[in-house]
Parts: sequence; C-alpha cells; structure tokens
Amino acid sequence: MTDSSSVTEQRTERAAERSCLACRKQAAKPELLRLVVDEEGQVLPDVLQKAPGRGAYICWHGTCFSRLRDKQLAHAWKRTSIAAGQVVALPQRVERAVLMLCRQMLQRRLSLLSIGRDAVMHRMWAKAPMLLLLADDAGAALVRQVRDACDKRKAAKLKTALVIFGDSATLGDLVQREAVSVLAVDDSPASTNLRKYCLWYGQLRETE
Ligand SMILES: [Zn+2]
Repeated sequence: MTDSSSVTEQRTERAAERSCLACRKQAAKPELLRLVVDEEGQVLPDVLQKAPGRGAYICWHGTCFSRLRDKQLAHAWKRTSIAAGQVVALPQRVERAVLMLCRQMLQRRLSLLSIGRDAVMHRMWAKAPMLLLLADDAGAALVRQVRDACDKRKAAKLKTALVIFGDSATLGDLVQREAVSVLAVDDSPASTNLRKYCLWYGQLRETE
C-alpha cells in the first residue's frame, strides 16, 4: 500500500495552487515565485521554495512586479511589519537570486557550452535537444540567423528551446566572458532547472 499512498501525495503536491499577490491569478505552486519576510521586515525571494516561515507568491513576470503595491505585501503578512521600500527593492533582489542560480548551473557545464555565434551556428545541426540563450541586444542580423536556424531545426524535428535572455554583458558574466550574444547547451533532463531559471529571468524583464 506504500505505493498508492505515495501516488496520492504526488497528486496532492501537483494540485497545490496559489494565487499571485499582484494579479490574483492562480497557478501551481512550483510555477510561481515564493516570497518570505526576514526579521528586519525585508521581503526576499525564496526561489527554491524551502525557506521557513509564511510565504506569499507572485508570477515570474515583470508586469506583476510593476503592479505590486505595499498594501498587498502588508495584507499577505498581516502579523509582520514590512520594511519601507520593499516594492521597489524586490525586483532587483529577485533578478540577482535567479541570475546566481543560472550562473551556478552554467559554471558546472562550462565545458559543454557553445559560446558565441560561430560555435552556436556550428552546433545547430547536432541532433540533441538544444537550449539556446540569446541576448536581447544581440543585433538584428544575429537574431535572424538564430531564428532561421531554429526554424530549420524544427522542420528537421530537432528540439530547440530559445530563451531571450538579458543583455550580452549579463549573459557574458554568467560564463566569465565580457559579453556573449548567444550560447547553447544540450537541453537534457539535467538542464530542466537551468531552462526554467533562464526563462524566468527573461520573463522578469518583460512588462507586457
Ligand atoms: Zn501575477
């Protein structure tokens, strides 16, 4: 009977939904960002959703951070006093936290990365599913070249996940280079979290 009880637990876990502080939309807990408050009343991101204490949730999207108001934070933690200026400080804290995770994961894969246009274009015909990170200041010609190659991969039934990341300086910093416009890594099951964090970072920068 152990099996059936663990299946039930998994189902409960999957069904757990929370609503976003800002837009009130409901989503599965792992799809949202958990926020916690420290003893100084600072609201902090809990990306791994493991920190103790009461949590509140928000979409991984720039629009929800720009909509967030002090009164929504106060309402979420009724018995805790929230320090001033949290709505302004939070987006940067979240970006830093998610970038740190992306950096750690990319550093562990440094030898597996293709960095820069030539290396990435060369890798486009590798059969393995590919995760592509493209800087949002990559330049029209490179963006077109990458998108064309992605279309050809799609036609050849090769899987490609294309994530529009931050600027090339931020992307470069993750892999200890000055500036990187594009990089590629195999999109294996081991890269699931990397893909998720990179996607979230991209979404944080969107405001529509
Ligand atoms: Zn939201």
